[in-house]
Amino acid sequence: MEKTRNFCIIAHIDHGKSTLADRMLEVTNTIDKRKMKNQILDQMDLERERGITIKLQPATMKWRDFSLNLIDTPGHVDFSYEVSRSLAAVEGAILLVDATQGIEAQTLANLYLAMEQNLKIIPVINKIDLPAANVEKVSTEIVNLLGCEEKEIILTSAKTGEGIEDVLDAVVEKVPAPKKENEDLRALIFDSTYDEFRGVVIYVRLFGGQIKKGDKIKFVATEEITEVLDVGILKPDWHSTDGLNDGEIGYLVTGVKHLEKAQVGDTIVQVKSDTPALPGYKEIKPMVYAGIFPKEGSDYQRLRDGILKLKLSDSSLVYEPASSHALGFGFRCGFLGLLHLEIFQERLNREFNLELVVTTPTVAYKIYLQNKKVIDLTTPNEMPDPSNIDYAEEPYMKIEIVTPKEHIGGLMSYVSDNYGISKNTEYIDEDRVILHYDIPLSTILVDFYDNIKSISSGYASLNYDFLDYRKCDLVKMDILVAEHPVEALTTLVYRDQAHKIGKKIVQKLKEVLPKQQFVVKLQAAVGGKIIAGERISALRKDVTAKLYGGDVTRKRKLLEKQKKGKKKMAKGAKVDIPQEAYLAVLKR
Ligand code: GDP
Ligand code: MG
Repeated sequence: MEKTRNFCIIAHIDHGKSTLADRMLEVTNTIDKRKMKNQILDQMDLERERGITIKLQPATMKWRDFSLNLIDTPGHVDFSYEVSRSLAAVEGAILLVDATQGIEAQTLANLYLAMEQNLKIIPVINKIDLPAANVEKVSTEIVNLLGCEEKEIILTSAKTGEGIEDVLDAVVEKVPAPKKENEDLRALIFDSTYDEFRGVVIYVRLFGGQIKKGDKIKFVATEEITEVLDVGILKPDWHSTDGLNDGEIGYLVTGVKHLEKAQVGDTIVQVKSDTPALPGYKEIKPMVYAGIFPKEGSDYQRLRDGILKLKLSDSSLVYEPASSHALGFGFRCGFLGLLHLEIFQERLNREFNLELVVTTPTVAYKIYLQNKKVIDLTTPNEMPDPSNIDYAEEPYMKIEIVTPKEHIGGLMSYVSDNYGISKNTEYIDEDRVILHYDIPLSTILVDFYDNIKSISSGYASLNYDFLDYRKCDLVKMDILVAEHPVEALTTLVYRDQAHKIGKKIVQKLKEVLPKQQFVVKLQAAVGGKIIAGERISALRKDVTAKLYGGDVTRKRKLLEKQKKGKKKMAKGAKVDIPQEAYLAVLKR
């Protein structure tokens, strides 16, 4: 145990966590040089293409005569549950700050999470190779924030490899060894994944005892008893070992058949043990809900399988079966944010080859009914009749925007236009500030972050956290295409914004829907009343093309006949709405 060190790397997105991990794996000869590639711990195709880390990823390395267990974490706020689970499995955290950017919103958020866990923090300034690096300024920011001494800060370039050995040495010297807390086996499940060949693979941190192949074990929460079929460490591929000891991090393959039996946050103990469960994780609350339906009804079973498997490696996902008249059988899913939803949808599409209809995402409203009942409303179509509603409440978030001070004015007016309530402003140093606001979640859901970025020329960063529920004046808005309500496009909006939003949606639909043989009416309606409308003109097939000469009457007759036909078509028509249209409407 005294030769083991467990730590994770935390930072704002893009400050170089995954690249720093690459260099560590190289310097410690954990990965064969020939197999090395950039951001190797980003193992999903999607992560590599987008250049973002979505999942936590552990790796075990040898340094001097120590065994170091590193966990790389995502930086985007939608995946902060991955960060908090990683933090519970380690004793120290490398706080990485980009020398050209300084402290940003997620730097602070992740640092506070690490401090709550009493982790040893090792401050590191990365990207010192860049001409725009301002080590002195960023050092001051870190000293102000942590109250550490400037000489404790390690300078690195994860690109050139400079300073990497210093970081590894600091981990050995400063991160405490795991403490002995329990004689018998006690292992925290901090992650799991699904492998086609091995089934459920569980990632554990031992807080007591040992575990070997062939051991009989028990999951405390589900009381499931099973056998350890394989055990080992992550380098980052699975490498079988004789077993895992107290304080170590590794993986287990067990005989668990049902995916639900191995829950992230649960504790594994010996079968006959009465060792109590570790604290685990607090239940995570989804922020955003959307209905996910297969485009083809016959794909329902495959969708179900896909969601179950993704849930295994995405413990923040929440889902329940749903059905709708128009969309058939599917699922109501809860996400931590829109990026989470987008990634999930893309994974179902790629990894399971599913074509989906995703309904307009919504936050969870609380509806207080006249009869004193309260309902959680996550499906716009289930909005009760207005005459039964006493009042509605919506979730509010606490947000922090970190920005250079020249953008304060622009950001403040944008945030208050979006119903933000200013709390206070803090200075990080003389030219960077943190703006604190309370704001409705529904107004930051869609393009808030993009707008913050563009207003600040890319310099501002954002973090958010659930705050409380507050009253709001809500109405259900239906969108009709060719006079048919499109269930997936129904949304809940503020009453005084319905007109404005309705107009934007129909305009957007007009841009993205393909023309039909007939005129297509696009309408937004609240309580049966049309509040905005557009129309898409018909594709004009030239029925007179075959006529030579100037037989005007015949030409007119033909055109009239065509007009009649179109009217007929438009009445009974259903317009096929492509998936891109749903997305386009969302990003209004
Ligand atoms: P993460 O989001 O914190 O994991 O960041 P990544 O490791 O994915 O790196 C983000 C970007 O910064 C990538 O394009 C890296 O190549 C680049 N990068 C990371 N570290 C350095 C560094 O020390 N110097 C330079 N010049 N670029 C770096
Ligand atoms: Mg990364």
